[in-house]
Amino acid sequence: MNAFTTDSALREIPWLLHGFGTRRFGEADLSALAAAHGLRPVLLGQIHSAAVLAVTDALPDGTPGDALITDTPGLLLVIKTADCLPLFLVDEERRAIAAVHAGWRGTAIGIAAAAVAALRERFDSRPGDLWAAMGPCIGPGCYEVGRDVAEPHPGRPEWGKALRPVAGSPDRFTLDLPAANRARLEAEGVPASRISAAGVCTHCSPDLLSWRRDRRTDARLYNFIGIRPKD
Ligand SMILES: [Zn+2]
Repeated sequence: MNAFTTDSALREIPWLLHGFGTRRFGEADLSALAAAHGLRPVLLGQIHSAAVLAVTDALPDGTPGDALITDTPGLLLVIKTADCLPLFLVDEERRAIAAVHAGWRGTAIGIAAAAVAALRERFDSRPGDLWAAMGPCIGPGCYEVGRDVAEPHPGRPEWGKALRPVAGSPDRFTLDLPAANRARLEAEGVPASRISAAGVCTHCSPDLLSWRRDRRTDARLYNFIGIRPKD
C-alpha cells in the first residue's frame, strides 16, 4: 500500500507534486518528502472559514485560514483532514495551484468558489482552465447531519444536490461533500470533465483517519500539492 494516493489527471502534470495521505503518512513523512523534492511545507491553522491566503513563503504557526494559493515554485501547500474534504485546484496554463479544506462549514460558505475567485484575481486564472481533484473524505453513506447543518444557507446551489433526507427521520439528512463542492465548482465555470473525486470514504477505510470514527482530536491526514522548484 502506498503512503498516499494521487489523482489521475494531476499525475500527468510534470511540474506538479501532490498526494492525499493515508494514516501511514505522518508529519515526519511529509517533512521528509518535502525535503527530498526541495519544497517548503506551508500549513494553516484551519478554522472552517472561507479565508483564502495567497502565499510566497511558509506561514507562521497557526496562521488562520482554510485555503492556500500560490504560483511560487518550491512551496508544498498542506491541508490536514480527518473526514473533511481536501480539494486541489490546478491552473495548468498559468502554473498556479490551490489547496482547500472543505468541511461542511467551509462548503456551506463557499470556500471552493472563494479559491476559484482568488486564483482568478491573483493569477488571472480562467475557471475553464482549472483541474479540480477531491481527495478522500467522509462519504454520504456515513455522514448524517441535522437540520442545523442542512438549512443554514438556503439557496446555495450546492446544498440541494448534496443533501438527502434520511428515511424515517424528518430532521436528519445525509450530506455528500464531494457532490456539494462539485456543484459549486461547476457553477463557477470549472468544466465537469475536469473535476474528479477519489470516491473513498475516510469513515469506511481503516487505512484513513476519520474523526467521526476514531474521535482522535489530534490525528490528521496530510494532503499536499506543490509546484516543483526549478533546477
Ligand atoms: Zn463510509
